[in-house]
Amino acid sequence: MRNIDKTGLPGKYKAWIFQHGLLPRLTWPLMLYEIGVTTVEGLGRTINRHLRRWLGVPPSFSSIGLYSRTSKLQLPFTSLVEEYKVGKARLIMTLKTSKDEKVRQAGVHVRTGRKWSASRAVEDAESRLRHKDIVGTVCQGRQGLGTTHRQSWRTTDTGERRGMVQSEIRAQEEEGRKKKAVEMGCQGAWTRWETEERHLTWKDIWRYQPAQLKFLLRSVYDVLPSPVNLHRWGLVPDPDCVLCGKRGTLDHVLTSCQTALTQGRYTWRHNEVLRELADILERERKAQRKVKKKMVTIRFVKEGQSVPVQGTNKKSGLLEMADDWTMEVDLHGRSSFPNIVQTSLRPDIVLWSRGEKKLLLVELTVPWEERCVQANERKRAKYEDLLAECWEQVWQTWNFPVEVGYRGFPAQSVWRTLSALGLTGLERRRAVQRLAQAAERASSWVWRKREESTWKPTVGAQ
Ligand SMILES: [Zn+2]
Repeated sequence: MRNIDKTGLPGKYKAWIFQHGLLPRLTWPLMLYEIGVTTVEGLGRTINRHLRRWLGVPPSFSSIGLYSRTSKLQLPFTSLVEEYKVGKARLIMTLKTSKDEKVRQAGVHVRTGRKWSASRAVEDAESRLRHKDIVGTVCQGRQGLGTTHRQSWRTTDTGERRGMVQSEIRAQEEEGRKKKAVEMGCQGAWTRWETEERHLTWKDIWRYQPAQLKFLLRSVYDVLPSPVNLHRWGLVPDPDCVLCGKRGTLDHVLTSCQTALTQGRYTWRHNEVLRELADILERERKAQRKVKKKMVTIRFVKEGQSVPVQGTNKKSGLLEMADDWTMEVDLHGRSSFPNIVQTSLRPDIVLWSRGEKKLLLVELTVPWEERCVQANERKRAKYEDLLAECWEQVWQTWNFPVEVGYRGFPAQSVWRTLSALGLTGLERRRAVQRLAQAAERASSWVWRKREESTWKPTVGAQ
């Protein structure tokens, strides 16, 4: 690690050298030689220290943030201790299931120190897998019945079992990390977020500017120098917001400061994200639509025949229903609601088709990640009456409230809205990424300007 540190490369390159150069060279000797788990944990701490420094996060940044596979922001690093435990388990499984009978009966003892026993961990994993066989497949969250399949322990061969035990041990490690995260008040706040997860790949990391990456990592785990954190670390006497004098938590500074709101800081950020969203929808609106109005015909099928499947790979979305869409975006206060009903409400984006009498409303919020569902319900309620009035005028109307968390974490509603409008696959993934980046970039700008009493958004904002 010291040698990597001396190379003088930027921090993220050093982190890459660790993950792809050093770690693979360590796993083999760690598996083969008798090294106690305490020693490996010590090595792990050294690695954590270096990684933190290379990524530009403070020493208090938890190692859960570096290695977690279930957190909201997943980084492409692997924990040395986890690799060690998996390696030892692999060794036990290999010896136990060897084709050579002499090896199987040799009784090789894998020693790992007192704190953690590899053979017990393998036994645990096996019994957990056997137990899962009895429980059967379970669905979590919004998963539909039968969408997931799991390998059955009973029917697999030894080679596959080896893999299953290893991933079970990884799962146990992850469970331990998650338990710790829930216990941590500040850095574990992400366990309460209502947004989708983000995987940060190496490709993403190369693209990031160091300062931007630093902001993202530190804001997700709330280790930015906000007034409250500075006070907690004993660096400033009082934890008050510079602008309004209230308690200056990270969430106060970035989403709920009244003074910042009046100065238009949050509106500026909202408009930055809205501009991206409007651009995405504008492209979708202009996209060539081959669907022309067709006569509705009834197809008769002879007895015993099946209905012919037609056009399965055609795009389907609400925008496919008409070809004369008009779009209004409420960016500079000049937009007006189409002349269907009289209203003073200004939804962020209105799309309508006079020919087909269809109307779509899209309302964007950039909230705190813990309040996404709340924001969605609020926006739904706000436009309920307007929606009912439009339906009375025989206009088919839909309302899509979408939320992009201020740290760049889009809620499920973003994915759902985009696919309802006809974006799928890679196109949709790219669109979501663009929205996330816009929110994150704007937030980091708001953060950088937090101590300036006046607000000039256009200068230097990119
Ligand atoms: Zn304030």
